[in-house]
Amino acid sequence: MAPFFKKKSQEDPARQRYPEALWPLLVLGKPNKQTDYNQLAVPLAGYISELIQMALDEDLNLRYENDVAVWAPLHAMEILGVLGAVEAAEPLSQCLDWDDEWVTQALPGIYANIGPASIPILQSHLEDAGHNVWGRICAVDCLSAVAQAHPEQKDAVVRYLTGYLDRPSADDSADEETVTSFIISDLVDLEAREAYPAIKRAYEEDRVNPTIIGLEDVEIAFGMRPPRSPSSSPPDEPGVRLELKCKVCGRERSYLFPKVYCDTNTITNKKKNTRYPPIVIPQRVICSKCGAVDQYELTAMAYAAITADLLARTTPGLKKFRRKDQYIQYVSFQAMGRDMHPLEAVEQYQAKIARRPKDRDLYLGYGNVLRVLGRFEEARAQYQQAIELAPFNPDVYVEMGILALTEGNKEEALSFMEQALQMVLNAPFSQKEKNKLKQIIQGVIRDIQQDKIDDIINPFTMAKPQTDKPHHSAPKPEKRKASPQVRLPKARTASLIRVGRNDPCPCGSGKKYKHCCMKKQK
Ligand SMILES: [Zn+2]
Ligand SMILES: [Zn+2]
Repeated sequence: MAPFFKKKSQEDPARQRYPEALWPLLVLGKPNKQTDYNQLAVPLAGYISELIQMALDEDLNLRYENDVAVWAPLHAMEILGVLGAVEAAEPLSQCLDWDDEWVTQALPGIYANIGPASIPILQSHLEDAGHNVWGRICAVDCLSAVAQAHPEQKDAVVRYLTGYLDRPSADDSADEETVTSFIISDLVDLEAREAYPAIKRAYEEDRVNPTIIGLEDVEIAFGMRPPRSPSSSPPDEPGVRLELKCKVCGRERSYLFPKVYCDTNTITNKKKNTRYPPIVIPQRVICSKCGAVDQYELTAMAYAAITADLLARTTPGLKKFRRKDQYIQYVSFQAMGRDMHPLEAVEQYQAKIARRPKDRDLYLGYGNVLRVLGRFEEARAQYQQAIELAPFNPDVYVEMGILALTEGNKEEALSFMEQALQMVLNAPFSQKEKNKLKQIIQGVIRDIQQDKIDDIINPFTMAKPQTDKPHHSAPKPEKRKASPQVRLPKARTASLIRVGRNDPCPCGSGKKYKHCCMKKQK
């Protein structure tokens, strides 16, 4: 039996809404290098309102990607631009807010073609905070494109954008800050050196997201300082720079930490929970904008820096990108005898202490975790709790000494170590055992006196596996010499491979970084 093929109708029902002259746009499909809008526009000069209707046609815009007609609205917009259709400036402004990369990337060129008449419309779109932040930024890009295409308008646009930097609402929210940052980026592209005082003021008043564009980038672009040579690494800084976002005020800021850890279990174990960030910052992090304490999350930029660092560690060709002075220390954090992120350990210890409030070992372990996290006051409170619960606790005194050392208080540290030593010497142990413990503690004391502090305060011996034996029969100071629980070699490594805003995006899309992943990561 011969199969029966029903030939699919070539006629798009949308044709009924448009004059025949526009029908070719329904089947043109995805634009490419051969797409010649100048040519396509020739027979359409008399159809401005129909083209506007097609540009905004909801049915067409919501078609599936594999339907050629889904591209018709974009063609209509481009042709409206080529025709210089001033009437389209207002209706097309609603497309600024669309979550459609093709459209938002085409709009600056389209508005540049429509010309100066669109300036007031774009300005009011920017000024209306009811629009989404990316729509407002797209309006800025369009204003900038109009100024580029119409040099006689450049001064006015630059003056307007410069003035907008100082608007009263500029410091109201992270969104306003994002808008400000992209305006600065466009002013740089416009080579608007006259905007520098207002730009500098915005940085000084902390109203810019420095991860979008830094004042230094502005000054380099304006020729006020020498460019970074492409091969040179970022300026040497004694620590690790990370971009963090505050969960309270939403601001992204760049922070320099003397030391950060990367938990290898979190980054290598995909199945394990991802509730905790791979980076452990062993100190309080205070938001430089609003002062919130420890309310941060890593930005995409920070994750990229960690990924870059990991790659650089393991890929010979990338080794040169590693910064010798910076380091992320890769460690396998352990607590309660297994791999455990320190933040998980905090939760576990809190739960266990709630169940067994008389177990002094829990307070000791919890104190150690808090110490590693830089929460020194809380750590001290746990140690004191442990001391109150048990009279014999040289190990707690050793940990208190390490805490004092971590805080830079050498004298206090030595005093705690001496107390631990006396406690051991007065204990009912065999002479042999006493001598062994004495040697260990005296070794620590010697190291402190000789300023060999790093090995003592590194956290790899934190939160030792708990033993079931009662603590007095297994004195814990001895265990401090156990081998560090580090799986990956300690690495003094780099981060931050810089991608310029106008560089090709590292994702390989062929677009500029600022139009691609820089926006996506926001
Ligand atoms: Zn904040
Ligand atoms: Zn990209």
